[in-house]
Amino acid sequence: MLLIEEQIKAGKITSEVRNEVIKKVSVGMRLLDLCEFVERMIEEKGGEPAFPCNVCLNHIAAHYTPSIDDESVIHDGDVVKIDIGVHIKGYIADTAITISFNPKFDSMVQAVNEVLKEVIKVVKAGTRVGELGRIVEEGARKRGFKPISNLSGHSIEPYKIHGGLSIPNVWVPSTSELKAGSIYAIEPFLTTIDGAGLVINGNITNIYSLITRKRTQDKDLDEFINIIWSKWKTLPFTPRYFKDVIKKKSLDMMLNKLVKLKILRAYPILVEANGKCVVQAEHTIMPTDNGVIILTQ
Ligand code: MN
Ligand code: MN
Repeated sequence: MLLIEEQIKAGKITSEVRNEVIKKVSVGMRLLDLCEFVERMIEEKGGEPAFPCNVCLNHIAAHYTPSIDDESVIHDGDVVKIDIGVHIKGYIADTAITISFNPKFDSMVQAVNEVLKEVIKVVKAGTRVGELGRIVEEGARKRGFKPISNLSGHSIEPYKIHGGLSIPNVWVPSTSELKAGSIYAIEPFLTTIDGAGLVINGNITNIYSLITRKRTQDKDLDEFINIIWSKWKTLPFTPRYFKDVIKKKSLDMMLNKLVKLKILRAYPILVEANGKCVVQAEHTIMPTDNGVIILTQ
């Protein structure tokens, strides 16, 4: 099976950075420092962030990255999900872990790690995605937890984190199959039994990506689009990346305009619909004819 060198290296950097951040993360740490640490280390190792480092506490399931002046810190009792993406020339690896500073949720963290292992164990070319969803759902239920049914894993393509195929966290009647040599992220999310098992949009948005390079008739906006395209193509970025370049007020204005024009996609944070704690584990994998290669091992 042909595995591209950049793809292997992106996977290796992602797992090294994840392992470093596990050692580093502690109560009292600012989320902003944590994310900048991750993004800097990715670059030092010769990769680029495939998306802004996501650090999501407790009932926030996904898409939180700190703003420019974010003062939030990790408190004792928090459950911290860190989601890291690296790309090299567009070849992406995506991994996530949950670190619990609350003993009440340790068993749920252990459960999501075990469920991810169980799913990966059955993966090979031809595995149906619905079957993977069934394993997550049953693995969650038998341990006393609920899967988040509207968050899923995904296929990965060059410069595309979500390549088009979803890998559900519940059983679905889909006949789509995993293909040998394609790249996928598998990412179960679990919540407690009194959770809704669903996420809804929250009221913070710090992640955007380019949908189209369509011109706007506004010189500044067109220039801004050019910068985004040249640096990130269609990969997600965060206003933080512009902190030394564009004043916050004009940056916010441009982002809002481009979202309205449907040139930028905005990713609001996703929160558990009942406000319950969410845990996540994620690996990027490549199925082979008789098994799987875990790129972010
Ligand atoms: Mn991820
Ligand atoms: Mn992912």
